[in-house]
Amino acid sequence: MLVSQILKSKSDDGVVTLPPGSTVAEVAAVLSKRRIGSIIISPDGKTLTGIVSERDVVRELGRRGAVCMTDPVETIMTPTVVSCARNDQTDTVLQKMTDGRFRHMPVLEGGVMVGLISIGDVVKARLTELSAEKDALEGMIKGF
Ligand code: AMP
Repeated sequence: MLVSQILKSKSDDGVVTLPPGSTVAEVAAVLSKRRIGSIIISPDGKTLTGIVSERDVVRELGRRGAVCMTDPVETIMTPTVVSCARNDQTDTVLQKMTDGRFRHMPVLEGGVMVGLISIGDVVKARLTELSAEKDALEGMIKGF
């Protein structure tokens, strides 16, 4: 299965982004309000400055306490973002997420962000695919 197939099945709300310089408190507010696990930091909604996840916020809160809430997001975000392309296989993406121990990956096309997929999206798509394969095989066996 391709990443593009997952993007098609997702609601087309766009990717949630915040501009560089946003505070940790603003990140926490958007994560909470949108009920999501990560936010892409981008000046224009298309190019990537970094990614910040709920884990980054919780770790910093545990380390320094609430004083971190007024810090810029750059102090906790990951600046080197691993991305994928529409034509990538979902198995490859899942492997990269597992190896890198992260659960979100932006999808880029020509350096421009066109979507974001989560490990949950990939697992859901894979389960649907496996279920369809199982039904097809059962149909073939019963047909003989
Ligand atoms: P997550 O599993 O998304 O909560 O992220 C776990 C850690 O990996 C956090 O420090 C994130 O900033 C970082 N991270 C999340 N997604 C990516 C990605 N696509 N590339 C690089 N780092 C990431």
